[in-house]
Amino acid sequence: MDKIKMTTPLVEMDGDEMTRILWKDIKEILLEPYIDLKTEYYDLGLPHREETRDQVTVEAAEATRKHGVAVKCATITPNAQRVKEYKLSQMWKSPNGTIRAILDGTVFRSPIMVRGISPVVKNWKRPITIARHAFGDVYKNTEYKVPGPGKAELVFTPAEGEPVRQTVYDFTGAGVLQGQFNTVSSISSFARACFQFALDSRQDLWFATKDTISKQYDHTFKDIFQEIFDAEYAKAFQKAGIEYFYTLIDDAVARVIRSEGGFIWACKNYDGDVMSDMVSTAFGSLAMMTSVLVSPDGKYEYEAAHGTVTRHYYQYLEGKETSTNPIATLFAWTRALRKRGELDGISALMTFADKLEAASLAVIEGGTMTKDLAGLWEGEVPAVVVNSRRFLEAIRDELEQRL
Ligand code: NAP
Ligand code: MG
Repeated sequence: MDKIKMTTPLVEMDGDEMTRILWKDIKEILLEPYIDLKTEYYDLGLPHREETRDQVTVEAAEATRKHGVAVKCATITPNAQRVKEYKLSQMWKSPNGTIRAILDGTVFRSPIMVRGISPVVKNWKRPITIARHAFGDVYKNTEYKVPGPGKAELVFTPAEGEPVRQTVYDFTGAGVLQGQFNTVSSISSFARACFQFALDSRQDLWFATKDTISKQYDHTFKDIFQEIFDAEYAKAFQKAGIEYFYTLIDDAVARVIRSEGGFIWACKNYDGDVMSDMVSTAFGSLAMMTSVLVSPDGKYEYEAAHGTVTRHYYQYLEGKETSTNPIATLFAWTRALRKRGELDGISALMTFADKLEAASLAVIEGGTMTKDLAGLWEGEVPAVVVNSRRFLEAIRDELEQRL
């Protein structure tokens, strides 16, 4: 079989620890034998971020803006312990944060479902994708512990003109106080990324806030979504046969639980933080969660939702076998390749991505899996636990039959 040719390079961001090992194995066993892989390679592994004073992360994000599609390996976000371990000159920022800021993107997380591993919520038949607005609100708040009686005020001093004051509360005793903000520009980018991704994946989009209580703050989110939808996306949604649906956050939570899944749930920052943990846990394993960063102008960066699986990496360094699940990292590759194929009109690349995903799921459904999945397995055949490499080889054998 001739290898599949690519035209535009895929931006490849390598990473750290156990996922860096899986990265190399995935390429060697499942991609390079079949595709003339054309990538623009950026090494985001922590040693190279240190060497380049983190310039490599910025360059990788800019390359994504240029080429439109990237695939990223999990990376270490340094903390004090990592600064020591890697002898860093600085506590470099989270690469994901840097990339997200440069692309002005929104992160969409969806579970990969397989027969034999069922969600805790029994009526969920299809994935629920969560989009979290990762900017502002309580994450950028200003807080104050009120020591005793006094008046709390909200004061806005415009660049030109007179200050506006409102009383928040007349304290008669001690208490707490908090100020939050968001911006029209950030909310608009979030809305556009959500509408764009809904069209792209042909799924309904749900959005919810508490606008009945928060008549200015949350209501602004609701209004911005509606205005952008009406002006820019309503026709395209109709054509695609999908819906935009707004409701109150408490109603949304109840509907999500009763639903069959198969939609995107856009959440404000805090709701997304909390609900993504609930939804992903209810779907099963963190190792089966994919993630994609989508910019408002339609650039895509695909990755696994999990981290570098440090505990397994230390075992690997001791020469022990690990059974680390490569599925979410592999699906980051298949999705990036499919998107590249779609943008460049290379149907062979899209078909390959479909077959590789189907082969991966078939291997698990046939009972061969990594250790993390065996504990969740409810299939008819008994689970056979294999190491990561053996698992990738089983996928290759299955793929060979389908090509
Ligand atoms: P983690 O790497 O996601 O792993 C946490 C635990 O979840 C693992 O110890 C393992 O459990 C299980 N797990 C996660 N992925 C798995 C997989 N593919 N196969 C099997 N089990 C899996 O999170 P962490 O240990 O908190 O963080 C490690 C490093 O990753 C940190 O330096 C952090 O900064 C970084 N991180 C990066 C990203 C990113 O790049 N997007 C995201 C999160 C964290 P058992 O140990 O019980 O087997
Ligand atoms: Mg959280």
